[in-house]
Amino acid sequence: MREHYKALQRKIVLIMVAAAIVPLIILAAINYFEFQATFLREAQTPFRSIVAKTKNSFELFLAERSSTVSLIASIYGYDDLADKGTLRRIFLAMQREFAGFADLALIDEDGRIVNYVGPYYKELEGVDYSSQEWFHRVRSQNRYTSEVFSGFRHFPHVVIAVRHTTPDGQSWIVRATLDTTQFKKILAAMNLEPGSDAFLISRQGILQTDSAYYGKALEPVPLDLPAAGQEATVAESVDSRGRKILVSVAGIADTDFVLMAVKSTDAFLLNWLIVRLDLLLVFLFSCLCIYFVAARTVGRLIDRLHQSDQERERAMLQMEHSQKLSSIGRLAAGIAHEVNNPLAIINEKAGLLQDIVALEKEFPKRDMFEAQLASITAAVQRCKDITHRMLGFARRMDVKIEQLNVNDMVRETLTFLEKEALHRQVRIVLELDDSLPAVSCDRGQLQQVFLNVLTNALAAVPEGGRTTIRSFARGASFIAVSFEDNGVGMDEETRAHIFEPFFTTKGEEGTGLGMSIIYGIVKRHGGDIEVQSELGSGSTVTVILPIRQPGTGART
Ligand code: ADP
Ligand code: MG
Repeated sequence: MREHYKALQRKIVLIMVAAAIVPLIILAAINYFEFQATFLREAQTPFRSIVAKTKNSFELFLAERSSTVSLIASIYGYDDLADKGTLRRIFLAMQREFAGFADLALIDEDGRIVNYVGPYYKELEGVDYSSQEWFHRVRSQNRYTSEVFSGFRHFPHVVIAVRHTTPDGQSWIVRATLDTTQFKKILAAMNLEPGSDAFLISRQGILQTDSAYYGKALEPVPLDLPAAGQEATVAESVDSRGRKILVSVAGIADTDFVLMAVKSTDAFLLNWLIVRLDLLLVFLFSCLCIYFVAARTVGRLIDRLHQSDQERERAMLQMEHSQKLSSIGRLAAGIAHEVNNPLAIINEKAGLLQDIVALEKEFPKRDMFEAQLASITAAVQRCKDITHRMLGFARRMDVKIEQLNVNDMVRETLTFLEKEALHRQVRIVLELDDSLPAVSCDRGQLQQVFLNVLTNALAAVPEGGRTTIRSFARGASFIAVSFEDNGVGMDEETRAHIFEPFFTTKGEEGTGLGMSIIYGIVKRHGGDIEVQSELGSGSTVTVILPIRQPGTGART
């Protein structure tokens, strides 16, 4: 039985916990992904914007220099540019205004150097550029910014070349070179956090400036190259050393350069880990709370359910019991009623016979007849007694309700049995509470109740035994009178059937009607009888009566 409640409890707790935890899980999952997205955004956005800003710096830097070279190519004539003094003046002015120019040269249509200002004049004396990549590009595009290369001077540099064609068809090329130290300055201005790296690469993935982690200029960069558009983009990646990184790239307009910046995601991952841990802790704590609350509440509920189930079961049993008793009572009353008629006839006929015997003067064996008739009349009287009592059990007698003091009733009843008690040396102890209020009862019936209980107690105790009678208040609206004896006691069987009519353990001596009759009486008065007994150690029979009359609200 207990198992059934345990299983029920487990099931309800499970359902309650599931009902609370499923939304919690959904909420936690939503939180998790939201947080993750926010974190990623927070890590990416500033990174992307600094790359975009730097890309703009590069574009401005290169556009300025390219325009300067273009201006020089178009405002000076070929002869001016071919003049050593003029070109030197122009170059000095350029260097003054724009940092980064390393030299300046005039090159004719066939790729030969015509004039040159700069530190490499010895190495470049009479050099022929007609086979060089940049030369072909400028011839076809008119304006060209090269990648970084070493060229004839074995030093990384960038070429800016502009081709100018006069209206009469003569054309020449002005070429300036930039050293890459300016690039490094622009990159340094990004002020990236330690562990990060920024550098220029070509679209083919060749490093254009030195990188802190991924090689020197002109080496291929050992990273996957994301497609670089004009806009700065950020992507997650893993570098050749297995580090998790964020890579941002932005193509620099009108050139083959791509600005690339790399940032370790370690700090971001650590923060994210802490937040995840927090989320997990909150989640686990909530789960625990839900579980404890559900378990406690359901536990209490189930306990109460169990209790009320037990009470209901007890009430059902009691009802069954009293219903059984009342139907037996009705049966007994019916029999008693039916038996009374033939008994009356037998009595009458016996009386008639007695009269006949008395009137006849010469009646043979008169004494014998008279004796037999007397015993018939005695037997009939005995039968009448029994039917009378049976009718009493079934509430067929007139009652008169009075206000009675139970203590007086106990004392009155005792007078009937004092002699017998004295004879058998049974001690009767009275512990009566004199402050008790009166009860509403029929005098004769209450006397019958006490008499029956006391008779049974006296019958149960051995010679020299003891019976204690107590009266006391039971709650606010009941009075109890208990009869305790130290007699033979009852077994379970006897306790179960004690109120049934004709149930007796005394054989021929007993009728088994006493307890059944007084049970009916007490119940009718709105009271109850309790029996406590152990085989061999005595019994206590307690009669409980309401203080007010039943029907006036004392008992529902
Ligand atoms: P009877 O006294 O005629 O046997 P009752 O109805 O008065 O019938 O009692 C029924 C039975 O209940 C008794 O036979 C006896 O076994 C048991 N009984 C009643 N009161 C006591 C008691 N005080 N001690 C032991 N047994 C008792
Ligand atoms: Mg009896």
